[in-house]
Amino acid sequence: MTKQSLVRRQDLAVAVVVASAIADAFPRFSYPPTAAAATVSCAKNYKRLLHQLDLGSGGGAVGFRRDNPWVQSMMTLSPTQIKPPVARTAPLMASHVEEYDAWMRSHPSALSNFEDIIAASKGKQIVMFLDYDGTLSPIVEDPDRAFMSDEMREAVRDLASHFPTAIVSGRCREKVSSFVKLSELYYAGSHGMDIKGPNDEHKHAKTRTKAVLFQPASEFLPMIDEVYKSLVETTKSIPGSRVENNKFCLSVHFRCVDEKKWSSLADKVRSVLKDYPKLRLTHGRKVLEIRPTIKWDKGKALEFLLESLGFDDRNDVLPLYIGDDRTDEDAFKVLRDRRQGFGILVSKIAKETNASFSLREPTEVLRFLRRLVEWKQFSADC
Ligand SMILES: [Mg+2]
Repeated sequence: MTKQSLVRRQDLAVAVVVASAIADAFPRFSYPPTAAAATVSCAKNYKRLLHQLDLGSGGGAVGFRRDNPWVQSMMTLSPTQIKPPVARTAPLMASHVEEYDAWMRSHPSALSNFEDIIAASKGKQIVMFLDYDGTLSPIVEDPDRAFMSDEMREAVRDLASHFPTAIVSGRCREKVSSFVKLSELYYAGSHGMDIKGPNDEHKHAKTRTKAVLFQPASEFLPMIDEVYKSLVETTKSIPGSRVENNKFCLSVHFRCVDEKKWSSLADKVRSVLKDYPKLRLTHGRKVLEIRPTIKWDKGKALEFLLESLGFDDRNDVLPLYIGDDRTDEDAFKVLRDRRQGFGILVSKIAKETNASFSLREPTEVLRFLRRLVEWKQFSADC
């Protein structure tokens, strides 16, 4: 076994210990699955859970007790207290390693399979789509401090000089743009509901493009503002909670809220939303998300941008989408359904996903982007 693979094994061991501890703490909706549960059954539980979370009209009779599945899902998917490994961890570790290895065989590393991706791009224009949080920047306690490194910014700048590149984020477009600080990119904020392109015509576009600006949920702006003010007022009694106005959607961050208060926070958020049937409530990693019920998501944003670039209904394009969260699955699914391009999931654990490849963390994303740039520069020199 090489030193490198040994290190990877050790990293993996840490990851599975953490995963095991989470599963032990919250057995009802364990994710990733416990040793006894197969990936498929976990996926079914997860889908059922998401169905419960998708409150649609904001109505329903779901209460917010600690033992409620909704609240449990907040705890399971957003763990704060991870127990140290216990004696029976060893067999569980082995099982999780096997499970992760199996998952990696169906979602192999985009770095290890770089040549295959390049081979698939022959005669095609690569178009890059990048999520921000957890993909270009690490997940941090304070969402206002989710800065990307200078190295990552340099890599994205180089990338955009060779390929059309878009940032697709749940954040407010202006906010994510202020983090990235690159004017030559396309930005799709608010889960794709606020899209803007670079002002200059893009040199890689197949057709003449003009400045792209698309906001399919404009009519919701007054409502979003109103709900934002209500949520700020209603949740101020919960220490550590943070309401973020993403313009076309809202985020209620609970990563700094005491776990004992999560149920109360969820209850307060839902009490506000019951008067707004056109908004729906979902959640991601330590965040509750409120957005319009319109059929628009990151997958639609990807299709819109491809069309804007003149690649709609064309075979000479290879879109690559890199993201780490559930909302990125909409884009992965679009690529899978179109049989075009590849979704790349950033994850250290096995997850049900429509992505074709995986990367473990933002540092691997950085390596992948650099390799793409090096390959392009090398092929241009030949
Ligand atoms: Mg993300």
